[in-house]
Amino acid sequence: MSEKIRVLLSEEEVDSRIREIAAKISRDYAGKEIHLICVLKGGVFFTCELAKRITVPVTLDFMSVSSYGDDTKSSGVVKIVKDLDQPLEGKNVLIVEDIIDSGRTLSYLIDILGKRKPESIHLCTLLDKPERRVRDVKVDYSCFNIPDEFVVGYGLDYAQKYRNLPFIGVVELGEN
Ligand code: 5GP
Repeated sequence: MSEKIRVLLSEEEVDSRIREIAAKISRDYAGKEIHLICVLKGGVFFTCELAKRITVPVTLDFMSVSSYGDDTKSSGVVKIVKDLDQPLEGKNVLIVEDIIDSGRTLSYLIDILGKRKPESIHLCTLLDKPERRVRDVKVDYSCFNIPDEFVVGYGLDYAQKYRNLPFIGVVELGEN
C-alpha cells in the first residue's frame, strides 16, 4: 500500500491565516496576559506559530490527553496522560488545539479545566470539522473549517507520521 499526500491547505495559506487569528486574539486580549494551553502532540506546531505572533504577554503550559478509540475516531472516553504544570486560578486561559472533530476531547477538557477557577477560558483551533460534531463546543477562534477528510501535517499525524509537514494534506492510499 502506498501513501500519497494531497495538499488541502498550503503552507502560505496556513501561515497567513495564523497571522490573522493571532492579530485578532491580540486585539481581543489587549491589556491582559494569555495563558496558552497546548494540547499535545498535535497542537504543538500551531501553538508555536500562534504564540510567536501574539503581541500581548503569553505564558505557556502543555497537556496531553488520550482518547480511546481507533486510529481515526475518538470514543469519547478521555484520559489525562500529562497534566498541566501550573495552576489556572485567575488566568485568562486559551486552549490551543490542532483539530476539533466530534468535539468530545474539547468538551471534556473545557469541563475539567473550567473547574480550576480560571478568570476566563476560550478555545482556539487550527482546523474544525463542524459537520462531525456530536458535542456542542463553543469555538472562539478557528483558522479553517474543513470537510470530513482525514488530514495530516502541521502537527497532525497518521500512525505518528507526517506531523512535520508545513501544510495540511489528505492521505490518499494507493495499491503500490
Ligand atoms: P474529537 O474528540 O474532537 O473527536 O477529536 C479530536 C482529536 O481527534 C484531535 O485532537 C486529533 O487527535 C484527532 N483527529 C480528528 N480528526 C483528525 C484528522 O483528520 N486527522 C488527524 N491526524 N487527527 C484527527
